Amino acid sequence: MTDSSAPPPAVVVIGGGYGGVNVAKALDDVADVILVEPKDAFQHNVAALRALADPAWLPRIFLPYGKLLARGRVVAGRAAKVEPGRVTLASGEELGADYIVLATGSTYPFPAKSDHPVTAAAREQYRAAHDALAAAGAVLLIGAGAVGIELAGEITAAWPGKRVTLLDAADDVLGPQYRPDLKAELRRQLAGLGVEVLLSSPLRQPPPVPAGEPGPFTVVTEAGREITADLWFRCYGVSPVSDYLAGELAVARGADGFVAVTPYLQVTGQERVFALGDVADADRKMAGIAGRQAQVVAGNIRALITGGELTAYQAAEPSIVVPIGPAGGAGQRAGAPELLSAEFTSQAKGRDMFAGRYAELFGLGPPAAGQG
Ligand SMILES: Cc1cc2nc3c(=O)[nH]c(=O)nc-3n(C[C@H](O)[C@H](O)[C@H](O)COP(=O)(O)OP(=O)(O)OC[C@H]3O[C@@H](n4cnc5c(N)ncnc54)[C@H](O)[C@@H]3O)c2cc1C
Repeated sequence: MTDSSAPPPAVVVIGGGYGGVNVAKALDDVADVILVEPKDAFQHNVAALRALADPAWLPRIFLPYGKLLARGRVVAGRAAKVEPGRVTLASGEELGADYIVLATGSTYPFPAKSDHPVTAAAREQYRAAHDALAAAGAVLLIGAGAVGIELAGEITAAWPGKRVTLLDAADDVLGPQYRPDLKAELRRQLAGLGVEVLLSSPLRQPPPVPAGEPGPFTVVTEAGREITADLWFRCYGVSPVSDYLAGELAVARGADGFVAVTPYLQVTGQERVFALGDVADADRKMAGIAGRQAQVVAGNIRALITGGELTAYQAAEPSIVVPIGPAGGAGQRAGAPELLSAEFTSQAKGRDMFAGRYAELFGLGPPAAGQG
């Protein structure tokens, strides 16, 4: 039960990505929320590859935090040490916390995510990569998961005829958890756009030039196939960010960096510390899932504050929508026998890339109609 004369409890949410912003917003009315985030704007990386191909999209992927919370505040900083009840920032500032939410997500190689904390520098990074892409005759994308497939789609939509090779050591695109007919459809559309998809093709050596820097260079697959390109991008490598866990919280950090959580999304062994999204070891690493977990975490913290039952998080059935440029792509939805068509994919995601929905969350106006 709450004591109405007591000050509201302090909830420190660490990380203002898809999970953190939704938890912070959902608890803004019941707690003193502090959102700790080193970046000066939310990075809507779901649309990052669109912005790489079309820099007119850049304003739509960097969304300032200023209007996110009505009562709570956003502290610009990086958590350096987190223990139950206390968060120490890299600046040395200490924040006391009745509840802590770990929402520090993951890193992913550029251009899928940028790690520049200052928007102007991150935008410049995308512009420079755009110029390098525009100048490249042939592009190699290593990693044929959702990011590699989407990037191939964005490049061919922006520069029809540019030679794109999508390569993976695995024997199919997208990853093992998705339907074979979805993978076949994505391969079919990529082939139709002239993208060469090379599967079961590990390289003998990585490319001799850094990712994102102009070549030309040649790489050779284990099978002896030579590929020459002017530019390449790394389209794999999600790494959870959990190096700040200290004291009794450090034991919840697995060898792979993911944080172990209970069915209620509490960090294992903790009542008042929660983790969600890409950093937690629950479910797949997707923005939509981080958003669903945010509702469970916010509901459970609210229940602890006001009195009530905790709710267990239910892992989602595999479901995904993969745009191939603004007009193509396909997807699968839990329980639906039919694949999502290119038309549906375009309408539901490919044209707007959820940019309107996120602009609205950040108080930046109603959803835009179609692509802006
Ligand atoms: C190109 C691309 C496209 C994608 N498309 C989709 C899609 O269409 N649909 C989908 O569901 N998912 C998609 N994903 C996956 C999705 O982006 C991630 O699952 C999602 O970002 C996870 O959200 P999160 O809040 O857990 O972490 P993140 O979004 O990674 O946010 C973590 C935040 O924590 C901050 N942070 C890190 N360390 C600290 C620290 N020490 N102190 C304070 N703050 C810190 C970071 O700066 C960051 O802002 C895509 C991913 C990529 C890369």
